[in-house]
Formats: sequence, structure tokens, C-alpha cells
Amino acid sequence: MNRESTEQQNPTSLIDRFNRRINYLRISVTDRCDLRCVYCMAEDMEFVPRSQLLTLEELFRVGKSFVDLGVRKIRITGGEPLTRRGVMQLFEALGELRGLDDLTLTTNGTLLGRYAQALKDAGVTRVNISLDSLREDRFRRITRIGDIHRTLAGIDAALKAGFQRVKLNSVIMKNRNEDEIHDLVAFAEERGMDISFIEEMPLGETEDHDRGELYYASHQVLAVLQQHYELLATTETTGGPARYYRIDDSDTRIGFISPHSHNFCEHCNRVRLTAEGRLLLCLGQEHSVDLRRVVRANPLNDEPLHRAIIDAMEIKPKGHEFDLTAKPVLFRHMNVTGG
Ligand code: SAM
Ligand code: SF4
Repeated sequence: MNRESTEQQNPTSLIDRFNRRINYLRISVTDRCDLRCVYCMAEDMEFVPRSQLLTLEELFRVGKSFVDLGVRKIRITGGEPLTRRGVMQLFEALGELRGLDDLTLTTNGTLLGRYAQALKDAGVTRVNISLDSLREDRFRRITRIGDIHRTLAGIDAALKAGFQRVKLNSVIMKNRNEDEIHDLVAFAEERGMDISFIEEMPLGETEDHDRGELYYASHQVLAVLQQHYELLATTETTGGPARYYRIDDSDTRIGFISPHSHNFCEHCNRVRLTAEGRLLLCLGQEHSVDLRRVVRANPLNDEPLHRAIIDAMEIKPKGHEFDLTAKPVLFRHMNVTGG
């Protein structure tokens, strides 16, 4: 690898061994959450001690370094990102970064009533809100402790704040919520939102259910929708792994995130930073680099951090190997990975 100063690196610095250009960073700012979704977490979770988390300043330093190296999109996620104390400070700092085109957030919506306008003002462009059911009792069952009214109020607040786009994310599970596919799309359409359907991934043990048994493939969701809608496949992308369809005569796009039925690794353009500062090169593999060590060993010099990020591209794996029936599953839960 070329060892010249990273100051001279052009925006194409981050290219991996498979010639994939990395221009998208997802940052998990906390592994904690005010909900306990059955596919994401176990009921009784042990969280990372707060002392081991990157500070907000350190998270910004890493984010800025990625932008220096050509990343154009940062998504803030978690855990529930809005539960991290002082997190607005991070949004405000990232929102000022020249070169960052897209600053986005994935949230369960419970705190959007309080933060939506401030997020918009800080420069957040788009917001994804997770919603798997419109029924109060089911929402509670899936999130274990959630109150749907808070999430619905959060959605209203996001729509009012005027982000470029507000999107719903729904994980569809057989015999849990697959009968709500239409209702969720109608809800999104009425409000001019997009919606993405996500296949459940085997990240961590959840004890709630057998993931294989509840598996509901994207093509099944699509088939259900095609009974009612004229869906047009598009080549549109929001820079993530979703494939999109448009409903005829509507602004709403329907996305499918299908790690099982449609392997999305070939065009992977992203890496993930955990709240502890571990750079994960793949959602479904353990390959990682400890950036916290690099950040703390070099408090005044970003060059070693830039170098560590560039070198990390060398170990980005070709793809995930998700298998819902195999044991053991990947130990890491989604809240750690930063979904
Ligand atoms: N708490 C926020 C939220 O729920 O949107 C952000 C973090 S959450 C981990 C991000 C996304 O990952 C959510 O849309 C959630 O539905 C999804 N997710 C969590 N665990 C998953 C799993 N095992 N398989 C597929 N999607 C999962
Ligand atoms: Fe929390 Fe999001 Fe995981 Fe649900 S999916 S438990 S809201 S981090």
C-alpha cells in the first residue's frame, strides 16, 4: 500500500481488496436502548460500561477522519442513539463538516418528539424510524416495553420538522406481523414516507424465538404487496443496501433489505463504528480494528488514525455468511453492531 501522507489522499482513498469504494460510515453512539425488540436484544442485556465508550469528541474525530478520506454519508445509529446524553452536540459538529453530503439517523422514534426540530436544524438530512406494527398490543409484544403512542408522536414530529425524507423500517416476522404489511405501507403512503422491509438477521441470541421459524423473505413481502399495488422496480438508491420499488402514482418508495434472499455484499460501500470505537468491516463478520486505541494514543495527530482507517480496508471481507439455521450465531447483537 502507498505510504504517502494521507493529507495528499484524494476522495477515493477508501477502496477495499474487491475494488469496492467505501463512502458510507455508520456510527453506533450507544449500545443502550429504551426498547428491547425481540429480534435485536435479549430481555436481560449487559451493556458496555460507559467508561469504555468513545466520548462524543472522539466519535466526531473518527467521523471527521472518514470524511477527510472520502466518506460522504454518515448514519448515526445504536442502540437508541437519542438516549446518549449530549448527542445533539455530535450531530451539530458533524452537520458542519464540509464534504459530508448526507447526515442521517436511525431511531425508534421515542425521543423524536423532543429532538426532531433540533436534528433538522443541526443538518440531519434524512431519518429512518423503526415501526414493525401499528397495533398497540403487538408493538408492545415486539418491543417488549414500548408504547406505540410515543413512536407515533415521534413520526409526526419528524414529518413536521421537514427532513428531506422520513422512512419507516419494518422487520417482518411470520405469524407476528406479516398480516400488517399492507397497513404499514398504507400508513407510509398516507404520510408521504418511504418504507423498507428488513429480513431478520441472526445477530446475537435473543431467546424470544427461533429465527428460522419466523423468517419471512422479502420476495414474500413483495408478492403480498403486488396483489394490491402496481410496483415498479427502480434503480434508485439511498446509498444503503435496500432495493427499491415505486408505487404507481405515489411518492412512496418501498425498499427491501434482504441479506438472505438477495446477498447485498457485492456492492457494499459501508463500514461501521461501534460505540467503543471498534471499526467493523462487515455486518456479518468479526473482522475489526480498534480505533479507540489509535485515537487515544494520538490525541493531537490525526495521521495515525487516517492510516489505520486506510489499512483497515485491507481486511474488509468479501461478504457475510448468514445462516438462520446454523449455530452458533454471530455473538454480537444488532444494538452493538449499529443497525
Ligand atoms: N434503535 C434504533 C432503531 O430501532 O431504529 C436504531 C438501531 S436498530 C439496531 C436499527 C435497525 O436494525 C432497526 O430498524 C431494527 O429493526 C433493525 N434490527 C435490529 N436487529 C435486527 C436483526 N436481528 N435483524 C434485522 N434487523 C434488525
Ligand atoms: Fe432498541 Fe432499535 Fe434494537 Fe429495538 S431495534 S431494541 S429500538 S436498538
